[in-house]
Formats: sequence, structure tokens, C-alpha cells
Amino acid sequence: VLGRSAAEIARAERWGARNYAPLPVVVASGRGTRVTDVDGRSYLDFLAGYSALNFGHGHPVLVEAAHRQLDTLTLTSRAFHNDRLPAFQERLAALAGVETVLPMNTGAEAVETGIKVARALGYRARGVPDGRARIVVAHGNFHGRTTTIVGFSDDPDARNGFGPFTPGFDAVPYGDADALEAALTDDTVAVLLEPIQGEAGVIVPPPGYLAAVRRITERRGVLLVIDEIQSGLGRTGTTFRSEAEGVVGDLMLLGKALGGGIVPVSAVVGRADVLGVLRPGEHGSTFGGNPLAAAVGTAVVGLLETGEYQKRARVLGAHLHARLGELVGHGLTAVRGAGLWAGIDVDPSVGSGRRVCELLAEHGVLAKDTHGETLRLAPPLVVEASEIDEAVDALAAVLHS
Ligand code: PLP
Repeated sequence: VLGRSAAEIARAERWGARNYAPLPVVVASGRGTRVTDVDGRSYLDFLAGYSALNFGHGHPVLVEAAHRQLDTLTLTSRAFHNDRLPAFQERLAALAGVETVLPMNTGAEAVETGIKVARALGYRARGVPDGRARIVVAHGNFHGRTTTIVGFSDDPDARNGFGPFTPGFDAVPYGDADALEAALTDDTVAVLLEPIQGEAGVIVPPPGYLAAVRRITERRGVLLVIDEIQSGLGRTGTTFRSEAEGVVGDLMLLGKALGGGIVPVSAVVGRADVLGVLRPGEHGSTFGGNPLAAAVGTAVVGLLETGEYQKRARVLGAHLHARLGELVGHGLTAVRGAGLWAGIDVDPSVGSGRRVCELLAEHGVLAKDTHGETLRLAPPLVVEASEIDEAVDALAAVLHS
């Protein structure tokens, strides 16, 4: 790495904590699917901020909404009402087909909120003895980085060295509805699942899994909390991944793309009687529901209301998966995913996922490895078919080099 990039990387390494191991690319600007680094090199962004940039860099509608709100009002705290939050809640509820919306900022906060709501409802409505509530999660889960959340992760990098952890979680194999049902006890208040496990490597459960979990949780009177933070908001070809199985969670957790890649915005959405368990003063956040977040979030909902981005994810996703499929047996051992979201396993004889990402960056494509040989590809939903071809051609060149 040369030029200004090298200087900025050295500076980051001198002054920054090393909680990430970024690829040696220093991004300075972005538009749509493309970003440019400080030395003027252009890249296709096939990570899209872990799906926070579903609408691409600098989407004009979102930037315009943010600019307008920046000049008007940015923060009130929830000690007062603001004039932008109600419309955001109303439009997001309609988009999701739910009754109530609780805004937060980050994905992990939405997950923590879901956990608190599920526990409180268990105690107050179901008579679970105080302090005994349990929540069933899946092996391989990724729900964020707070101490409670990493406590029920089985990824050693996420949890080792950070205990003691919050009790009350039971992990079952992902994709096995019978195992999940067998883990339910009288004290189980909720099941918390990703409809596709992103961080684990874009793991798609067997067809019918989520629908079976919905039937089981309904029958057993247990809440179904679906983490759509990475899978939701158009990525897989529908507004929410759960729609693929006709499932609506009692609570759904949203984040990432909800802030349009501009500001952190997350939300817990769901049944009024479930979110209604919270009483004033029991939960909140200084920035949650701020007018800037609400304005951008409303503009995001507006983009999704058109259906255009979901359709792009379906049509262009089919193209992406067809092109990637050609590489299985030619440097890739597997391709998984849905819509514009793919997990690809690199043949170990080619090199590590990290090495492939470094070479891809040299070929002008940004992607991120996860867990050894797996790469995650998730371009913005504004990607063009020609850009998919460009990225897959670069991948083929790397795999064959
Ligand atoms: N849930 C899922 C499924 C995620 O993929 C992520 C982030 O990658 C999170 C929760 C945590 O979101 P955040 O990083 O905004 O806290």
C-alpha cells in the first residue's frame, strides 16, 4: 500500500484501538455502488456496510431528506415529542404490517430491547416466576456485541474473555424445528432467530423452518422475535426475509439499512400488546427516535414502499447467484443465499477468505470474509447487472490466479 492510503493506515494503527482488522483500503467518497479511496482508486462496494447501505452511497432521496432535517431540527430527546417521529412510526408500521414501533439506534440496542420486552411480558402476562425467564436462540447466531448478546453467542472471538454473562439463554441447532421445540420449558418466554444467519456465512435454513417455528411458538404461547437487522429491508427480494415463509414475528428487529447508511437507526416493531408491556421510564435512549433519524428512516420507508428495491434484489440476485454458481468447482466449493446476498465458500487450496478479499480489493472489488474460507457478498440494491458481472469476473480472475 502506497501514497496517502499508507499514511492514513499508519495513523489509524497508531491512534485507533485494534477491534477491527480492515482491508488496506482507505475510502474517501462514494456514490451508488462505487467508492473511491484517498489515492483516487475506484472500487465496487460488495459489502455495502454489512447491508446498512442497501440503497447505495449517497442516495439522492435520502441525502435530501437528511439535509433538509439537518437545517431544521436534529435532536429533542424523548422528554418532548418531535414532529418527525410519528410519521416514521406510522409508515414503518404500515410497511411491516404491525401495530407498534419502538425506535432505537443500533442493532444491538434493538436486540436488547426485544429481550427486555420478552422477559417483562413473561413475568407480567404469563406468570413466569421472577428472574426465571428463558430465551431460546440458535447456534451460530450473531445479534451484536453487547455483553448480554455475546454471552449467548458460540463464536469464541465474540465471547471469550468477556464474561461473566447474563443467564437465561438456551442455544439449539439452527434449522431444526424439533430441537427447538424440545428446548422450550414453562419458563421460556421467547425464541430469538435470524431468518438467514448472515455473520455465520449467509446460512439459509431448510425451507419451512421459520413457518414451523412460528406454529410451535404460537402453540406454546412463546414470543417469536425475528432479527431482520441484516436480512430485512429489501436485501433478499422481499421487504422482510420472513415473508418468504409467510411469517410475521410477534416482534421484529430492524436496523442497518433503516438509517439509509447515513445515521444509525434501529427499531423494534410488532404487536401492540407485546410492546405495550413497557411502562414510561422503563426503557429508552437519548438518541432513539430523534428527528434526523426519523426523517431519514421515513425516506427509507418511502423507497421500500415502491417495491422497486425488493424487485431489484430478486432480479439481480438471480443474476448474481447464476454467475457465482458457474464458479462452483472452479475455486468455490459452495454458494448460498437469497436475493442480493450470497455466502461463498472458497476452495481451501486457493487460499483463505481474507487473502481472496485482499486480492479482490486489488482487482477493484470490496468484500469481507467471515469465518475462514467464507466470503459474504452483499452489493447495494442499486447495483447494475454489468457491475455484478464486473465483480464476478474479478472474483474468477482472483480464484484462477
Ligand atoms: N443482528 C444481526 C442479524 C446483525 O447482522 C447485526 C450486525 O451485524 C446486529 C444484530 C447488530 O447490529 P449493530 O452492529 O448495529 O449493533
